[in-house]
Parts: sequence; structure tokens; C-alpha cells
Amino acid sequence: MPEWPELRAWSGQAQQALQGAALDRIETQNEKMLNLPLEALNAAVRGRRVRQVRNMGKWMLFELDEGLLGLNFNMGADFCLDRRPMENTRLQVFFADGRVFSIRFWFLGYLVYGRSLALCPALASLGPDCMALSKEDFCALLKGRRSLKNLLLDQHTLCGIGNFYLHDLLFLAGLHPARQAGSLSQAEKEGLFEAMHALFERAAAQGGAAYEHDLFFQSGHYRQSFVGYKERQACPRCGAPIEKIKLGASHVYLCANCQH
Ligand SMILES: [Zn+2]
Repeated sequence: MPEWPELRAWSGQAQQALQGAALDRIETQNEKMLNLPLEALNAAVRGRRVRQVRNMGKWMLFELDEGLLGLNFNMGADFCLDRRPMENTRLQVFFADGRVFSIRFWFLGYLVYGRSLALCPALASLGPDCMALSKEDFCALLKGRRSLKNLLLDQHTLCGIGNFYLHDLLFLAGLHPARQAGSLSQAEKEGLFEAMHALFERAAAQGGAAYEHDLFFQSGHYRQSFVGYKERQACPRCGAPIEKIKLGASHVYLCANCQH
């Protein structure tokens, strides 16, 4: 599932490639991924120019000269920006210059339109982008009795962190995923903020995870994993075996010796 680093890398590409481009039309065989009937969506976006492309958490936002489009890849997608649509895609965004952004979601994805961010419920309900937060604001969100895992993955609290990077993020910060968020000391909260910036900036600079493809169908280069998906392998810091434990609805990987 693409997370902040992938969305940052891809949004940067889309910004370079599409800034100023005029939209022609959107085509889809599955209107369930839209928040408006296709006809109304096309009436809203036809002829609009892309002012800026940026990511907000796991969403790619196309800010138009009027209104905005939000694209969410959900579990992941194959997609491509080219002069010809990619085959077997469920969603195509055609530009007036003949290019087409085709997207084949692995699972249902979303394309939503709003006159503004605040007028688009799917986007307005998101918490702040995890990397746009100041250290002070980030630390202020770490409160209450929820586990760190649940809080950090809750896109309505802060958006951008997902299951792939979570394990390594908590390992780098030396924090146990089951810790109650409100139990962290100020130094631990700040350490988590620093770890997130180090991890996400490095992964985004490498184009995101190696198992994902970008707009031009090139793989990312980020392959590093400290504890994520490494059950029973040696912890890179202390050598103890990495554990996989069930926490809430899913599993987390951790070194019980290094994470408290
Ligand atoms: Zn360890």
C-alpha cells in the first residue's frame, strides 16, 4: 500500500509533468470510485488547468484553477502517464494535450472532486499531513490511551503513515507499538518525530518502495527494512530475534529488546 514517501515522490513527478495542463475528460467503468456522477464530474473539470499537484498523506491532490481532485490508490495501483491509455484500466484522466493518466487499482480506489478541500468530505475528514506538522503540533497529537500503532495509522488523526513503514518507524524511535500514546515522554515524542522525518525523507528521495512503480512505470529504489516483515531474523541493532505480534486487527514486527 503506497504511503507518504511514495505519494510524495509520485506527486512531485505529476507536478513536473502536469502543471499547467488542461483537463479534457475522465472516463471510468466504475463510478463507485467517484463522489459525483461521471457526467457532473466531467462538467466540473473539463477545461480546468492543473495549478499544482501535491500529496496530502496517502492522497494525491490536483489543485485546479477552480476546484480540486483527490486521488487515492487505496491498496495500490498500476498507473501510467503516457500518450496512450494503459490497457485494462478502470480510470483514465485525459488531458487536452493528448496525454492520459491511466490507473488500474488493485482494489477499489477513489477519485473525488470538491470546489475546495473543505467541501470534499473524503479530504476534509483527514487529519493533517504527518510531514507537514510542526514538531510541536506532532507531539501534541500523541496523547490518550490509544496504542501508538492505532493512533499513527488513523488517517483522521494524522495522515500518511501506513502499515509498511510503521514497523521501522517505531523501531527507529525505540518505541513499542502497543505503548499508549499518552505515556510517551516529551523526548520520546520528539524522537518519533525525528525518526519519521529521517525515514520518510530518505524513502521519498529514493522514489518510494522498490515494489511500487511511479508515473512512468519505473520502480522505486527504497529497499531498506529494519524489522518490518523480518520475523525471526536478527535485530540490526542488538541481534535479538525480531518478533511478529498481533495487535488490534493486524500484525506488527518489532524487537522487544530495543523497543519499549
Ligand atoms: Zn534489538
